[in-house]
Amino acid sequence: MSELVIEALRAAIGGQEILRGIDLVVRSGEVHAVMGPNGAGKSTLAAVLMGHPSYEVLGGSVRLDGVELLGLPTWKRAGAGLYLAPQDPVEIPGVPIHAVLTEALKATGREEEAGEVLSALLVAEAAEIGLIGGLLDRPLNVGASGGERKRVETLQLAALRPRFALLDELDSGLDVDALRQVAHRVAAAVRPSSGAAPLGVLAITHYRRLLDVLLPDAVHVLVHGRVAESGGPELAAAIERDGYAAYLGERAAQPARGGGLDDLFAH
Ligand code: ADP
Ligand code: MG
Repeated sequence: MSELVIEALRAAIGGQEILRGIDLVVRSGEVHAVMGPNGAGKSTLAAVLMGHPSYEVLGGSVRLDGVELLGLPTWKRAGAGLYLAPQDPVEIPGVPIHAVLTEALKATGREEEAGEVLSALLVAEAAEIGLIGGLLDRPLNVGASGGERKRVETLQLAALRPRFALLDELDSGLDVDALRQVAHRVAAAVRPSSGAAPLGVLAITHYRRLLDVLLPDAVHVLVHGRVAESGGPELAAAIERDGYAAYLGERAAQPARGGGLDDLFAH
């Protein structure tokens, strides 16, 4: 059983405080969904957890099984078992996915899983998540569509088998079939049928469709860099229905429930 503990995390970019005190605990085999309006700081949270150098950590701690991650370079956090599927995966010209994963496996002392074993695994995993084979030989994400990039992220997750995955809008840009395949692959890592260690997931998403498969243990609403509310899956349903108006406290942002034009004729 592994544990990712985020305590009072505060971070800034460009001199502006974005994360203003985040507390979250994710354990192996758990899925925590993070929802929230655009600009709330969701991607910032993912980037800060992974150690993106552009962000300044102002306070707090992030521990993976008791090991403080803040201050460690990104590759050490990855070695400790943290994985980020970024909102916008980057192109890496000249470097195919096989090379990326080979180096990653070697760096964590898993040489025996590189080479032919990795090749066979990638082909099998690519088939499972509906990724066309040709993409495996191309430089990472070069010329890939948004949806293909998200599948490639899922493929890397499957091969690397991290302890915790940060999924930043893994569902964006995916068609219905791709979403189902990707979601089921992640769910299989969370609740493995083999004796593999269960994955813990922090899933940033705007939609319930991903959560219908991932079955979150908790849903957190991030607003202005703080967790405004935590609850169960019913919270995701309420957000899909009502939006974030209740959290934003702005009349202008409220959906037209009653009121509006109809009211002109009600009196
Ligand atoms: P979310 O993923 O929740 O939509 P982000 O974490 O991407 O939001 O962004 C949070 C806030 O940080 C936004 O208001 C965004 O404009 C701001 N931000 C992001 N990058 C920078 C930057 N380089 N300089 C200043 N502000 C930034
Ligand atoms: Mg974002």
